[in-house]
Amino acid sequence: MATGYTIWLTGLSGAGKSTIATELTQVLSERGQRVEVLDGDVVRTHLSKGLGFSKEDRDTNILRIGWVCDLVARHGGVAIAAAISPYRAVRDQVRASTQNFFEVFVDCPLDVCIDRDVKGLYAKALSGEIKQFTGVSDPYEPPLNPDIVVNTATETLATSVARIVAALEARGYLPAAREAVAALA
Ligand code: ADP
Repeated sequence: MATGYTIWLTGLSGAGKSTIATELTQVLSERGQRVEVLDGDVVRTHLSKGLGFSKEDRDTNILRIGWVCDLVARHGGVAIAAAISPYRAVRDQVRASTQNFFEVFVDCPLDVCIDRDVKGLYAKALSGEIKQFTGVSDPYEPPLNPDIVVNTATETLATSVARIVAALEARGYLPAAREAVAALA
């Protein structure tokens, strides 16, 4: 059975987690891997429906996502979590209870995320219409020791994805591309 693993994308809202998850899914699927994405926004409408944004509810949401990721990975699949996951301790808890956990810090300065305001949420958070918004009125604790950091304010999407793919190959989670193997033969 293929090696299952979890790619955990953490970062501010608008940093690029969902965009990277979509692109990674495409690349890894083309490489024959079976990929499932757990996107925070989607999970909150199903698995975590009813949970709010208190620390306790956010932690519960992350533990649920981690639990499903581990199920997928145990069956040889690739689970990609795209969730703000602002609290370090609970991310580390998921890491400890998930086989082959690969943490990606999707790093992007707050002012760039605010400029992007992909979902129009920062404007509402800054005006006070939305409370407990990560980066504005709620904490975000960056990973101290992520497996890789991608800087979406300075890298193109293609570069961020290529760097993650190379790191997965280096880790042995993803077999090297056929062209690369052929070149070695
Ligand atoms: P999140 O899922 O983290 O809330 P989104 O993926 O919804 O963020 O939005 C990120 C935005 O940033 C998108 O509009 C995307 O096109 C843009 N972007 C620019 N550069 C990058 C990059 N290198 N990686 C990912 N997204 C990027």
